[in-house]
Amino acid sequence: MTGAGRYAPSPSGDLHFGNLRTAVVAWLLARHTGREFLLRVEDIDTQRSSEESAQRQIEDLRTLGLTFDGEILHQSDRFPAYAAALDRLPTYECFCSRKEIQEASRAPHAVPGSYPGTCRDLTEGEQEGRRQALAEQGRVPAVRLWADVAEFTVHDRWLGTYTGEVDDFVLQRGGQEPGWAYNLAVVVDDGFQGVDQVVRGEDLLASAPRQAYLAGLLGLEVPEYGHVPLVLNAEGRRLAKRDGAVTLREMLLDAPVDTVVAHLAASLGYPGMTTVGELLEQWDPESLSRQAYVWGS
Ligand code: GLU
Repeated sequence: MTGAGRYAPSPSGDLHFGNLRTAVVAWLLARHTGREFLLRVEDIDTQRSSEESAQRQIEDLRTLGLTFDGEILHQSDRFPAYAAALDRLPTYECFCSRKEIQEASRAPHAVPGSYPGTCRDLTEGEQEGRRQALAEQGRVPAVRLWADVAEFTVHDRWLGTYTGEVDDFVLQRGGQEPGWAYNLAVVVDDGFQGVDQVVRGEDLLASAPRQAYLAGLLGLEVPEYGHVPLVLNAEGRRLAKRDGAVTLREMLLDAPVDTVVAHLAASLGYPGMTTVGELLEQWDPESLSRQAYVWGS
């Protein structure tokens, strides 16, 4: 086997139909292309993650019949690797509060939501003063990437060529305690685990250019991306737990697992299949709809 795909949920609650559908597609594509399939527990946010939730997610994925290779990696065990990567990157400290960033990004010519580089050119003396002022409030600065591009292009096997913004995004979060940022952790871990196929929800498409650019800076191979259109509720918003009876555990109260798998398979255009193994035998990656799937349709 060459290469690996992966599913990398954040353990902050039970997986719902939309998450499960993406996990199934990630598994199908990895297996269809002869790859290993890895599971990674994205528990960098120690406040919102729990091991109990991680175990429930793993059990749910196995209940569907998905199989994983190798060891399950926890991001909470990877902090030294993130620190080592940070040391190798061009960075600067950022002292801006959330409010300052919001205000600056509303200025004329600013790209909405992107960091305008306020702290890029502070002198060492200015940095020292701001570091001390934050320390007096019991806070540490964030660390941002010194990006030398404004955008980057990636290839998505379903959505085609996608060019998106790359700003000086955060690598290490500031605040009362430093924390590792999602984009750094994902790139370092995909590189470490030999992941060359990243399948995940379409909501993360806009992160792909930042991550691909960062992979290049770290000398890592840029993976092939495949972003899966989301599952929407009847109002056209992203399916969420409040939509009711959408987690696997809730669905299994009313129906056996083969019914749930059949629903997932039907949502992918393969009605009548009751196991993921059967689905894999028939599945053609090109059959994935580019349209969102509406829950209950
Ligand atoms: N942990 C992220 C999430 O659950 C997914 C990260 C990724 O697939 O790159 O939304």
